[in-house]
Amino acid sequence: MVEKAEILYNKPMKTTIKAKTWKAIYRLLDKVSPVDYDCGSLCNAACCTYSGDFDEDEMGIYLYPGEEKIHDFSADWLDWTVESAEDFEFPDSWSGKVYFVKCKTPPLCPREMRPFQCRTYPLTPHITEDGVFMLIYNDENLPYKCPLIENKISLNESFVKATYTVWCHLLRDPLIYDLVEMDSLNRQSRL
Ligand code: SF4
Ligand code: SF4
Repeated sequence: MVEKAEILYNKPMKTTIKAKTWKAIYRLLDKVSPVDYDCGSLCNAACCTYSGDFDEDEMGIYLYPGEEKIHDFSADWLDWTVESAEDFEFPDSWSGKVYFVKCKTPPLCPREMRPFQCRTYPLTPHITEDGVFMLIYNDENLPYKCPLIENKISLNESFVKATYTVWCHLLRDPLIYDLVEMDSLNRQSRL
């Protein structure tokens, strides 16, 4: 009985986002950048190389449901951990495996394989109380300051458009919608 429960507990999450869709998302976002120059030169690539008071174990990047399907677990540039969604602050609908990764040689990584979260930063999705989806600057409590956010540097329209398009698609997946909705409600409750 216990064995069966453990097997169910550790199942991958059921997502509607297929591997080929994740590949297409990566390809689309490969074509755009937040700005036309290497913004890492403004901050020593702070979002890749941060350090500080945060617990190292809490600072991995989680992959969105199904994103792991297009990654190679044996690739030498990433460290992987597989956790249970129930052990973290994910929505109740998230049940099963969540994949966390840490790059080993930041800020260097195979650009075409960097995780989704790295591709869309410094924007993050938000759903208003009226159910309207929008992109806002990432407002997570992070151990570094992003000059693009702090100085309100204007972002490339192509980057904003591509990120918006991708999020509109991802929000059709119930698990991803639940996560964005939960984050949005938490954000509203802090205002
Ligand atoms: S996104 Fe922000 S924190 Fe990251 S490298 Fe660019 S300016 Fe720095
Ligand atoms: S995967 Fe690449 S872009 Fe993402 S944090 Fe690591 S070095 Fe930076």
